[in-house]
Order: sequence, then C-alpha cells, then structure tokens
Amino acid sequence: MNVPDETEKTRAETAYCDRLFAETMQLASRFDKNIDLPTLRRAYRFASERHKGHFRSSGEPYLVHPVHVARILVDLHLDAQTLAAGLLHDVVEDDLKTPIEEIEVNFGNDVATIVDGVTKISRMQLVSDKENQIDNFRKMLLAVAKDVRVILVKFADRLHNLRTLDYLPPEKRLRIARETLDVYAPLAHRFGMARVRRELEELAFRYADPEAYARLEAQVAQRKDEYWNAIEQFCDEIRAGLSKRGMPAEVSGRVKHLYSIHNKMVSEGKELSEIYDLLGVRIIVETADQCYDALAYLHQHYRPLEGRFKDYIGNPKSNGYQSLHTTVTNNQRTVVEVQIRTREMHEVAEEGIARHWLYKEGRATGEIDAQMRWVRQFLEWSKDIRDPSEFYEQLKIDLFPDEIFALTPKGDVIPLPKGATALDFAFAVHTEVGLHASGAIVGGRIVPLGYELQTSDSVRIITSANQKPSRDWLNLVKTAKARTRVKQWLRQAEFALNVEIGHDLVEKRLKKAGLVIPEEEWAAAAAAFNMKDREHLFAAVGAGDLAPERVFDHIRSMVAPAPTKEEAPQKELPGADAEAGGIVLSGMDNPLVRIARCCNPVPGDPVLGFITRGRGLTVHHRECPNIRQLKEDAGRLIPVRWEARDVIGGAGPFKTAIIVKGSDRVGLLSNVTSTIASTGANIRHAEIRTLPDGAHSAFLLEVKNLKQLKRVISKLRKVPNVVEVHRLATEGDDEDELRAMIAGSPLPFAEESPDDEDE
Ligand code: MN
Repeated sequence: MNVPDETEKTRAETAYCDRLFAETMQLASRFDKNIDLPTLRRAYRFASERHKGHFRSSGEPYLVHPVHVARILVDLHLDAQTLAAGLLHDVVEDDLKTPIEEIEVNFGNDVATIVDGVTKISRMQLVSDKENQIDNFRKMLLAVAKDVRVILVKFADRLHNLRTLDYLPPEKRLRIARETLDVYAPLAHRFGMARVRRELEELAFRYADPEAYARLEAQVAQRKDEYWNAIEQFCDEIRAGLSKRGMPAEVSGRVKHLYSIHNKMVSEGKELSEIYDLLGVRIIVETADQCYDALAYLHQHYRPLEGRFKDYIGNPKSNGYQSLHTTVTNNQRTVVEVQIRTREMHEVAEEGIARHWLYKEGRATGEIDAQMRWVRQFLEWSKDIRDPSEFYEQLKIDLFPDEIFALTPKGDVIPLPKGATALDFAFAVHTEVGLHASGAIVGGRIVPLGYELQTSDSVRIITSANQKPSRDWLNLVKTAKARTRVKQWLRQAEFALNVEIGHDLVEKRLKKAGLVIPEEEWAAAAAAFNMKDREHLFAAVGAGDLAPERVFDHIRSMVAPAPTKEEAPQKELPGADAEAGGIVLSGMDNPLVRIARCCNPVPGDPVLGFITRGRGLTVHHRECPNIRQLKEDAGRLIPVRWEARDVIGGAGPFKTAIIVKGSDRVGLLSNVTSTIASTGANIRHAEIRTLPDGAHSAFLLEVKNLKQLKRVISKLRKVPNVVEVHRLATEGDDEDELRAMIAGSPLPFAEESPDDEDE
C-alpha cells in the first residue's frame, strides 16, 4: 500500500543528492576550471549505486554523506583525485561487495590508495582500544605517509560526521568526540590546518563535555556585545592609524573559539572573567616588510605586554606557520592578541598542507615532503617504543612542537622542542657530534650536556674522540632523534660486550678440555642453536640467554663424539681463576661495565662480574656479601680482571668507603683527614659521629687503585688514638647511607699485608 509513497520518497531523495552533487561540482569548477568532471560524475554514480538502499542514522540516504564530504574537500580546494576518493570513501567500508581492486581498476591507483587508507583508519579505534592503540596509531600514520590526502579525506569525513552526531547513541558520540580531540584535531594542527582544527574542536567539544560546553557558551554569549564593541573599536583605531601611515591593511577581530578558551581556563585554573586574552585582532598586509612596519606602529601607539612578542616570520613553526604575534592594550584597558601576516602567510596558516594541492599544475611536492617529514621520522623513531606512555609522550612532542631556536657558532638556526638540552643540540647538528659530545659552551659559559637551551642561545659543542654515550644520556635527551641514536649505540656496545664475554666463557671451557675448533665448525655450532653466526652465538652466551655449558657440550659432541674419560663436571666457582684470564676491565671506559655500589672494588681487588640482563656487566668485590647470593645464579657470574696499567696507577678515580674509629681526642679528625690527603686520595664525603666508645667517622674516598687504598689504611692505623680502620660495604654515596654505616656493623674485607706498606 505504501509502495507509491516509497517510490516518491526515494525519487525525492535521489533528486536531493543529485542537486547537492551538482552544486558541489559547480563550486569545484569555479576553483579549477579544468577539473576532471567526467571522472567525478563516474565516482558519484558508482557511490550512488553501491550505497543504494543504505541509510544514515538520521534517516537520510547514505549517499548524502559522501557528497557532503566531497563538498568539504572542495572548500579545501583539493584536486579531482581527492574529491573522487571523498565520494568513494565509504563504499569499501559499508558495502563489502566492493573490493579495493575495483576502485583501482575504475579510478586508478591514487584514488584507490586514498580510499584504502581512509577505510583502514575508519576501522580503528584510536583512543578506546588500549591494547592495539600504539599499533593502530602507527598504522594510521603509515597510511598517511603513503599519501597525505588520506588524512584530508578523513578530516572531511570526521567533520561531516560531527555535524550530524546528534543521531548517534551517546556512547558512540562520546567516543567519536574524544577521538577527534585526542587525535584528529592535533593532527590537523600539525599539518597547519587551523581552520579545520578549529571546527573539529568546536564540534567535538560540544559532545565530549556537554556541560562545560553549554556553560561556557552561555557565559560568552552573555558578554558577546561587550566583547564585540571592544574589538570593533580596537580594529577601527588600528585601521585608521595604519591607513594614515599609508599602509592599507585588512584588520579583523575575533573572539577566541570556545575550546581554546576552555583549555586555557582548565590549564590555568581560571574563571572566564580572569582570562584577559580572549580577543584577537588579525592584520593582513601585502609584504613581510609591512608586517614589521605594522608591528612598529602598534608598539608605538599601544602598550605591548612584556614577553608576548614572537617572530614566526623570522622563525617559522615546523608546520610552516608564519606571523608576527604581539599582545597590546589600549586606553580602555582592552587587551588583544594581534597576529600580523601577509595574505600568503594567512592562507598557509589556515589551510596548511591542503593548500599545496590548490593549483593542479604546480603541486608543491617539496613543501608536501617537508610537511610529511615528521610523519616519516616519527614512524622511524618510534619503531622500538613499546611503552604506551613513552609513545604518547613522544607523539605529543611531535604533534605540538613547542619550539625553541638555538644557534650554531656560524649562526645557523637549529629548531628544537622546548626543554631540549645541549646534548639534543649536538645530535641535531650531526650524529657523530652527538656521540662524542663531552660538554657545551653556551653564551661563553661551559655547561653540562644536560643544560636546557633557550631560544637564541648560541651553542658550541665540545667533542672529544674518547667520549662515548652512556645509559645516563637517555635521561638528558628530549628529542626522538637523540634518544634513538643513543639507544642504537648502546645496543651495539652491549652486543660487542656480550660477544666478548661469551667468547671468553666458551673459549675457556674449550681450552681446559683441550679442544680446538676449526673456524668452519663454528658456523655449524651457531646454526645448531639457531644463531646467525659465531658472533651471535657468543652474544647469546654473554647476555646470559644461553648457558656456556650447553655450547661447550654441543661442541664437544661435534669434535670428540666419544670421550674416553668422563670429565668431572666443574662445580668450581666461576672466576676462581680470575687472575689468569677473564674480561679485562680497561680503565672502566666501557659504558656497559659498572662498578657495584655495594662493595666499590678498586683496581687490584679480586673481582667478579655479574651479567645483568640488558644492562651489561656489574663488577663486584669477590668478597662482597651480595656476591654470595649471586653465586646461586652462577651462570651469570663471570671472571673479570683489571688491566695491569690500572692496577699500577693511571685510571680512576674509584669510589670506596672506609670507617675510622678512634678514642675521642681533640684534633683527631684533622689528623685523620690530613693523613688521607697526604696519600693523594680524595675525600668526597665524610660523616662523623661521637659515640660513648669514641669518635667514629666514615669516609667516601676517591682512590686510583688498591695500592693507594692500602696506603691510606695503613697510614691511618698509625695515627695516634686511631683504634680501628676498615673498608666498608655501602649501598651508595649519600649522607644517609654513610650515617647508617657508622651505626651498623662494618664489613672488613681488605686484609693488609706488611709488604704493602709505605714504600
Ligand atoms: Mn564516512
């Protein structure tokens, strides 16, 4: 019975879509009279056929949506391929009967790539799917890196969906609104598309936090007249003043958009009435020179607010944004934020990367590449990040580059994120400079590598051939580039160390058993353990992932299948023969070798190494109480020995702790300290306590080697009234710990022999 009605309704809807499409095409050919209309008509017919019988939640035919998306893309002045992709963007998603290949055959490779990218992104939940968030985000950026028009179509899609969000259930609304604020608006900002960003934020804010939105909207509406009167008066004054100077300018005013006001109120914890920079004035002039003239005029006639002037013409933001910013106030105490720019700068600021498709012929590939560089670099640098908070921290830095500009000695500008250090600067200049940086000179003053740079700092990096990165550097760098390079270097160094350790462990067992392995056999041995080659086999042993006994047993079975005499399994502790072999600690310059802070061994002490997975090797005193526990994990204890030159002299200084007990007497302490000083040892810290049984003092010393330490101890023992001198095991070097040591029981382990005394 309803059939005639239905048909009529359908016909009316079809006519509506056709009209909407025709208008869109008219507009498109106004911007580009050579635009490929036949292809666009084909795309429209294709979409209309595939979406036939599908409706949106609003009850409208589905086709209305892709046509509106195309319309938004026309407003961005995009090319025919992007418009076609906009028309087709949902056919793969909503109608599974359309494979992407069909799009490719009918509309070419570019259109298919864009549609495919948009479809993939639309399937992801970018903020609510915690588990796959990082992967999804990376996949999205990969799609964008393939063709940036993917994100432009996605922006248009999201804009139209937000405009019609009322029809969706509340939880879906909230998800889309959050995703827009967390992902798409920041991306629009990063691609320099201020206009799209504002609209995304304004629409999404309404749904993400309906109460705050309604409250703020009402408050602003109440003061609307007040705001606009103030702005218009200000604009009139400026316009008149500039034209009197013979400088025609387009001067316009605005009240900031609600979401940015909201953010300001939240981040500064203020009420609307306390926010003074709600009003903005924009001055558009012909040339960059005129921008500075207009600025001069403003600063002469109004009071500029301290610290609010920014020259983004001289130092463009990394998304290409250029303008002069200043904040001034007039006699009426109206405060306005002023942006001064040329017409071209204005277009770049509003349209960003979309603008590069404006003219079909001269597509600005160079500029697109520059804008896409951060996407590719982010993908490269975030490759190994598994920790979501680290990932988002890095992403935030890349999406909201709050930049500073430091200078090389030659005056080249190095843009860096705010908070970047001298070490970041070094890596930004060149990886090799970064890897060998030992300090920096900023404004004529020597500063450490962790020094935080400010805009216009002139920085000279001091390098040294012997300098190498250390794990601490990861705390000093802020940029992804520096972090990645340091990590790469540490990984390589760790691999080399593991190879050395593994080689040592395996070789020693073989030597003991009198086995010699021909070079070529090693490849087979490595393969047996699924290792690429001999180096990787040793590295696995050195890292503690593979027991040296397993490798040894395997090799023995390869070389000597039937041993006549069963060798007694070695239960002897590793490192018992440390003096004879083992890893040589040469000057402790390997960043992956650390001196254990519990026992502070010095060159000359008998030592053992403990492999800490992923952190390299920690060197303990053989008598360290902690070693007793570590011995249970004997596979990871390895022999090490000091390099001879370090034992004799040269290296250091090495930290070590001693305790000196004396019967209380005037002048004892000064005698003790001068005695220590007379040996050439350094006192880093001292803790003194007077107890009923006398004066106890603990010292943290810096010595070159065991010989020097022994000299300290034996000399101290000869000081009158000194009762006892011990070496100590300590957890660290801060005051509290030394204080605790005095109270606790010392652990003596350096027995002095008479022949070690003074020379
Ligand atoms: Mn869509």
